[in-house]
Order: sequence, then structure tokens, then C-alpha cells
Amino acid sequence: MAEALTSIQLTSLPRISQGKVRDLFSLPDGGNPTLLFVTSVFLTVDAFPDRISAYDVILKNGIPTKGAILTLLSAKWFEVLSSRVPGLKHHFLHLGPPPASGLSQEEQQMLRGRSMTVRRLKIFPIEAIVRGYVTGSAWNEYQETQTIHGLPQPAGLKRCERLPKPIYTPSTKAELGDKDVNISPDEARGIVGDKYADRLEELALACYNAGAAYAEERGIIIADTKFEFGLDEETDDIYLVDEVLTPDSSRFWSKADYETGRDQDSFDKQVLRNWLTDNGLKGKPDVEMPPEVVEKTKGRYTEVFKLMTGESLEDVLKAAN
Ligand code: ATP
Ligand code: MG
Repeated sequence: MAEALTSIQLTSLPRISQGKVRDLFSLPDGGNPTLLFVTSVFLTVDAFPDRISAYDVILKNGIPTKGAILTLLSAKWFEVLSSRVPGLKHHFLHLGPPPASGLSQEEQQMLRGRSMTVRRLKIFPIEAIVRGYVTGSAWNEYQETQTIHGLPQPAGLKRCERLPKPIYTPSTKAELGDKDVNISPDEARGIVGDKYADRLEELALACYNAGAAYAEERGIIIADTKFEFGLDEETDDIYLVDEVLTPDSSRFWSKADYETGRDQDSFDKQVLRNWLTDNGLKGKPDVEMPPEVVEKTKGRYTEVFKLMTGESLEDVLKAAN
């Protein structure tokens, strides 16, 4: 029987917010606001399976090691993108909490691999989505109006076809429990302001292009992804924040299996999505995954980590704090 979702508590650090799969804690700082960014944690006595959501609903039980996979993969991407996107700044400082953060041994053990120290920034209230392929809500819109987020597209695109070039297709950033709404770049401009709109679009496209090229060399198509950006209000610099190019924020497809004209299996959550739909559980609350769905999903996340980083999760976890 899965335990109810229990939030992680850290004795020495105040929690400042909780999203669907993350908890953010305020760290003591010497004038530079920093956060401990924790993915994810259902707390049980001796295991820490990590939260997973599908069709916008959080499952009742979790996927062990998923939090570490998302954290360690994001850390890898910050390194890769820094070297491939000129001028890119990002919020990642280091894995794990800073040495003197007053955490107990047990808390440090629980956080292993699934936390990182980041700069605390003012988040732009949009999701900077970039699409290289037409699928999901973009495919639905395209079929009706031949547009994607209001942007006109060529006629005759097939389901999941590669777009002539990647496009910036932002959405609103909804509060917990609400749904994000697709908007046009012009509407996003109205939200973030003229001063930042062009730079955000340019950065989002540059990060997607660099990431997609890197992934394609490793046999993975990044069909689309969502970035978030934050502002350092003192220096007026824009930073790439949040998780980056993970299976939770992106659609990853296998290049070998890719074919237009039909849906593609997503690398990570397909097993879970199929099980939910086959059992009439899509979008229902309080659903508990059976052990084989947990194991298979964990296997997919681990596989994508290996393909993308070239390293085994075990080895990277050993070195992580
Ligand atoms: P989902 O990712 O499932 O759509 P969510 O984004 O609301 O849900 P989480 O990913 O669980 O929730 O939480 C991460 C939160 O932390 C997001 O609200 C994100 O905007 C915020 N965040 C990310 N990086 C920073 C940062 N450097 N400073 C401040 N807030 C940040
Ligand atoms: Mg998020």
C-alpha cells in the first residue's frame, strides 16, 4: 500500500514553495540569495521513491531514483549548454546543499543526488516552450487552423513531422492545480515586457538547438521542451533556471523508431500513460501504480539518462552528494 504524499521537511531550512514534483528551501546566504532545489520525495521510513505525474495528476506512489535522474541530468545539461550557447547564464551552482547548512546525516542521505544549490531569481511567469516537431496540443491546433500557438505553418504537415525550423511557442505558467494555456510570442511579450521578450525567445531557441543537436548524436529526438528563465534584478541578467531538458520537461523520442503520420512512444512515461489509459484511469486522482509499471518506468528513465550522458546512473550517483 503506498503511503500518502508527505512533504519533505528539513529541520534547519525553511521551505519556501512546493510544486508538483519539487520542494524549494531557502539557504542561508551572504547577500547572494540561494535555494536548495529538491526533486522530489515521497517520504517513507526507509525508501524515498520520487513523485511522478501523468496527464497532470500526481500518482499515489513514486518512482525510485527519478528525482536523482532529473537532478543529475539537469546538472549535465547546464554544463553542456554553457559551452554551446554563447553568453548563457544559468542558476546551477553545485549539486547538493552547501557544506554548512546544518542538515542531519539522515537528511543529507535523503537528499543525495536529488538536490542542487541554485541562485534564487525572479521567475518570468511564462513557460518558454520550443517545438521542433508538431505533436500534442500543437498538432491539435495545426489540424484546426494550420497555426501553432497562433503562428502560421506550412500546409500538409503530418502528425509528428519535423517543423521547417524550431519555433518558440510559449505558454502561461499556471498556479498549482491549474492548466497552462498556449499563447503566441506576442502574448508572451505582453506578459514579460518588451525589454526581455526578444532575449528570452533567442535564449530558448539557442538552448533547444544546442540540446537537440547533442541529443540527436545520441539517438534521441527532442520533439519539444519547456524552459524557464529568471531575472537577477540587481544586474538585469537573464538566467536559465529550473530543470533542463529532462524527460519531465521534454518529449524524448527514439530516433531509430521515429516515423511521421503516427504518435511516437515517449521515452519515459509511455509505459505509465498506456497503463493508465488501458485501465480507464487517465486523469483520475489517487491512482497507485503496480510494481511492474514502477519498475518499467524507472528502467526507461535510467536508460534515457545513460543514453544522454554516456554514464551509468549508478556511477554518477556514487560521485554525487
Ligand atoms: P511542473 O514542473 O510539474 O509543471 P511546477 O513547475 O509548478 O510544476 P515544480 O517543477 O515542482 O513545479 O517546482 C519548481 C518551481 O521552482 C517552479 O515554480 C519554478 O518556476 C521554480 N524555480 C525554478 N528555478 C528557480 C530559481 N532559480 N529561483 C526561484 N524559483 C525557481
Ligand atoms: Mg516544473
